[in-house]
Amino acid sequence: MIFKCKNCGGNSLYHPEKKAMWCPHCDGLNSEEIVDGSSMEICPNCGAPLENVGEHTSALKCAHCGTYIILNERVEGSNKPDLILPFHISREKAEEAMKKEFGKRLFTPASFLSHSSLECMEGSYVPFWLYDYRSLIDYEGKATRVHVYTRGDTEYTETSHYRVVRKMEVDFDKIPADASRRMEDDVMDLMEPYEYQALENFQVKYLSGFE
Ligand SMILES: [Zn+2]
Ligand SMILES: [Zn+2]
Repeated sequence: MIFKCKNCGGNSLYHPEKKAMWCPHCDGLNSEEIVDGSSMEICPNCGAPLENVGEHTSALKCAHCGTYIILNERVEGSNKPDLILPFHISREKAEEAMKKEFGKRLFTPASFLSHSSLECMEGSYVPFWLYDYRSLIDYEGKATRVHVYTRGDTEYTETSHYRVVRKMEVDFDKIPADASRRMEDDVMDLMEPYEYQALENFQVKYLSGFE
């Protein structure tokens, strides 16, 4: 499926800062309608063959016309995610942040921040499992308590040794585990902790404009 603007036929995209669907062609807000594409092989907008559909791809950009396509069957039924952390900065803000962060670094390759490199930047969603679990923990340790005191001219050191035994019940809520083989785990770890308070119930529209 694709989201098409009812006013001008442009591709409506989710705009992170407006928190709404937005048409980059006519600046229309929430003017989208869904155009269903029945196949995973061709672009519903221009009919070009989709060449970059991976085994688990659910959203992609048509290499021919640049339309953002969502492969419905990959995000429906048992494939439907429960929650999504929608993008909250725009492409322009992301570019600004990149320039600010890397612009003054001595070893940044000259092409890294070039117009053509930034043009290629795409926002990607990465699937995650969230685990809740209850753990029962038994632990045993050795502890010492040292007490130093002086009596008369003599300093005494008294060390008490304890065997410490504890039982604990610990509940973990929403522990994230990156469910993508394509994204490096250590790269994903850099982004933690995630802003759980910004989690939303999954809606397909959040994918429009992203991969
Ligand atoms: Zn429009
Ligand atoms: Zn196309």
